[in-house]
Amino acid sequence: MTATRTRDIKATVQLVHLLQTAGADVVRIAVDSREDAAAIADIRRETSTNLSIDLQENYRLAELVAPHADKIRYNPGHLYHHERGRPWRDKVRWLADLAGEFGCALRVGVNCGSVDPDQREQFAADDSIGPMLASAWEHCMALDAYGFDQYCVSLKDSDPNKVIDLNRRFAAQRPDVPLHLGVTEAGMPPEGIIKTRIAFEQLIGQGIGDTIRVSLTVPNEEKGEEIRVGREILADIQAGRVRSVVRFDSNGLNIISCPSCSRVENEAFVQLAQQVKQMTAYAASHRITIAVMGCRVNGPGETDDADLGLWCGPHYVNLKRGTEPLGAFPYDQVLSRLKTELDALIAEQRRAESAL
Ligand code: SF4
Repeated sequence: MTATRTRDIKATVQLVHLLQTAGADVVRIAVDSREDAAAIADIRRETSTNLSIDLQENYRLAELVAPHADKIRYNPGHLYHHERGRPWRDKVRWLADLAGEFGCALRVGVNCGSVDPDQREQFAADDSIGPMLASAWEHCMALDAYGFDQYCVSLKDSDPNKVIDLNRRFAAQRPDVPLHLGVTEAGMPPEGIIKTRIAFEQLIGQGIGDTIRVSLTVPNEEKGEEIRVGREILADIQAGRVRSVVRFDSNGLNIISCPSCSRVENEAFVQLAQQVKQMTAYAASHRITIAVMGCRVNGPGETDDADLGLWCGPHYVNLKRGTEPLGAFPYDQVLSRLKTELDALIAEQRRAESAL
């Protein structure tokens, strides 16, 4: 996936070429605005690779990108943002008609950080898998009802164990629907690679999955690493060199970070994620999750399940502890506040352990 500003055509084309040269068969590009959508026509002219266009909240942008796209990804959890009075089924039908007209595929992209609120209400607060599956299934049924069969589904979570459960359960019910696999916000290498490998080995080893994406928090010039890692995992599975036999055990410090995309508002994000990893190394044995996200749009939701969450704005980094906002801090000050919060969490854990 590209992580440049999509409307920056030169930089985006450069990254598309880098990914294609690294061996990507499909490159995903996010569109957030009419400017982004308009840029897709120019980007299309500069590359022959398959382009998957990622609609964020504004699903109507599909009509601008469909003539240039090989695939359009929509997120069922984002369809309610625009035209709230229009039923989601109408929106999906409109997307399916558009995709059919221009010969593109659709991906129903369900993501743990932005699940359809209507589905979430139907399940217990601690059940994150149920609403994701229900959302995917109901969208499949809707597309089936409209006679549109050029679609696939993805069910992504930052926890590889959940990715395995989600995709196994989906595949058991809908073995006819192609699955795109990925561990979202897997983080930086090597942890991000390990999480992805665990999920892919367990799923692809059982014949589940049709396309893959590896998400790593790395600078743009190193994005080819995502492709290299993905192909290496596939080659290893094919050759029987499978390394994971147990479930992912996050008994220690777990840092999740997004792979970045066109929404990143400050290029210091990747460096910040790396600094967080270095600064928190002393807490490796503590069962604490820290989430580092690249933007203000998805950052607040995607950090909900973390003990400490950071998400980047143009000039400030927002910090929260659990669901409690702690404020926005300049990039050069956020680490010291993060350390204060981390130390407090560790002290709490120690008190709880000594009280047992
Ligand atoms: S958190 Fe924001 S910047 Fe990071 S991948 Fe998601 S949308 Fe892109």
